[in-house]
Amino acid sequence: MPATLVKSFTFESAHFLPNLPEGHKCKRIHGHSFQCEVKITGEIDPVTGFVMDFADIKAAFKPLRDQLDHRFLNHDVPGLENPSSEVICKWIWDRLKPQLPLLTAVVIHETCTARCEYTGE
Ligand SMILES: [Zn+2]
Repeated sequence: MPATLVKSFTFESAHFLPNLPEGHKCKRIHGHSFQCEVKITGEIDPVTGFVMDFADIKAAFKPLRDQLDHRFLNHDVPGLENPSSEVICKWIWDRLKPQLPLLTAVVIHETCTARCEYTGE
C-alpha cells in the first residue's frame, strides 16, 4: 500500500522576473517568504511503518535551502537567473530527485494563495 509524505520548508529570498514587460510589478525587485513542499510516494515498510524517515528528507533538502535562504536569487544562485516559482520548482526537483528517488512533486508557494506544483513530467 503506497502512501505520500509531505515535508514543508520555508526560505526567504529576493528576486525579480527580468523577462516580464515594463511596468509588471514582478519585474521590480521584491521578496517572498517562500514555502516549499516536498512530496515522497512509496510503499510503507512493514517493519518501520515508514515510507521514509522525514529526517532524511530534511537532510537532503538542507544544502538546497542553504543556497536559497536569504539570497538574491537572480544574482546569487546559478540556474535561477529568471526565478519564477516554476523555475524554482524545477531547480529544486533537478537537485533533489537524485537524492530522493521516491520524489513525486515539488510545490512552491510564493504567496498564501499562489503556488506551483512540479512533478518532473
Ligand atoms: Zn515574486
